[in-house]
Amino acid sequence: MAKQLSQWGIRTRAVRAGTSRSHEGEHSESIFATSSFVCDSAAQAAARFSGEEPGNLYSRFTNPSVRMFEERLASMEGGECCVGTSSGMAAINAVMMGLLKSGDHVVCSRNVFGSTILLFKNILARFGVESSFVTLTDTDAWQAAITPKTRLLFLESPGNPLTEIADIAALAAIAHKHDALLVVDNCFCTPVLQRPLELGADIIVHSATKYLDGQGRGLGGAVVGPKNLVADDIYRYTRTTGPTMSPFNAWIFLHGLETLSVRMRGHCENAMAIAQWLHQHPAVAKVNYPGLDTHPQHELAKRQQSGFGGIVSFEVKGGQEAAWQVIDNTQFISITANLGDVKSTITHPATTTHGRLTEEDRQLAGITRSLVRVSAGLEDIDDLKCDLDRGLGKLV
Ligand SMILES: *Cc1c(COP(=O)(O)O)cnc(C)c1O
Repeated sequence: MAKQLSQWGIRTRAVRAGTSRSHEGEHSESIFATSSFVCDSAAQAAARFSGEEPGNLYSRFTNPSVRMFEERLASMEGGECCVGTSSGMAAINAVMMGLLKSGDHVVCSRNVFGSTILLFKNILARFGVESSFVTLTDTDAWQAAITPKTRLLFLESPGNPLTEIADIAALAAIAHKHDALLVVDNCFCTPVLQRPLELGADIIVHSATKYLDGQGRGLGGAVVGPKNLVADDIYRYTRTTGPTMSPFNAWIFLHGLETLSVRMRGHCENAMAIAQWLHQHPAVAKVNYPGLDTHPQHELAKRQQSGFGGIVSFEVKGGQEAAWQVIDNTQFISITANLGDVKSTITHPATTTHGRLTEEDRQLAGITRSLVRVSAGLEDIDDLKCDLDRGLGKLV
């Protein structure tokens, strides 16, 4: 019995969906490193430009390597269609520029990626799009922030860097009751651990730079959702303005998706072990990880996700100095704000990823100076604990 693509398991789709073989019969999907495409005749060129005939014209519009990535990711997320972009921020910006107009209002969780907040506050505000920020886990606050002009709700779950979990189904219901859309940044979980569209979200954005690549090699992003929003409004914006994914990066991410489920399992396993170890460490005041039963939304995370993710944050006893000491004493864990890499990374959110926020916004978001964030990579767990203990051990 032949199964439909959508009936395949997510691991099969991660390896097989979207593949389009050229006449050369290549087994591994290739890079179409070309800016434009050739037509057979003037009539064909005219038909393609007018949209009467499908086909590639120019890589700002479509490219076969990019399309393979888009189809594979759309399939994994269970979405109708996907648009690849040059970065995660380009994806988020494309959603806003594609769907919003002056006078519209957005409700956004307070703890989203720092640049996302700056996009709303400093850029979209100049074009007449207002935004309100609420606590991710406070469903009543979302409801209360909605105005007749609210067009869109935007969230990340788990939040960065505190790993709070939003009730996506409840927020989707609130959004829809007010004719608004729910947009979820699914960067931290990836479709392997969480599929927001199945929970009622309308649009998903990704920074492919993180887990989808998984080895820190390139910048990229994606928007996944229904045809009428993504193929029409959002794609029209990207094809006209050009925050397009490069074919080379698409090829990296396409192959990154193939190993995503295996890598996510490894990230989750190491993050859980780090969280449990930190939890009993005398130099640690608090650990944030959805997999711990001390996490306030542990039960929700269990329901909503099929794994708890690779990000752990913790507060050391002492302030910024103590936090920096832990970071500076690592031997191999990389001091970088990037995450979702096979290499473990460590960062001090208050002075890096969230450094451009005002002190007030940082405090509202709960990002203290003693907070350290770790993105668990795939190294041996004993070595990871040893590396973190080099600094932590000195604090006790
Ligand atoms: C990194 C990140 C982004 C932005 O992605 P870029 O590829 O760096 O533009 C957006 N959201 C989250 C949750 C991220 O971690």
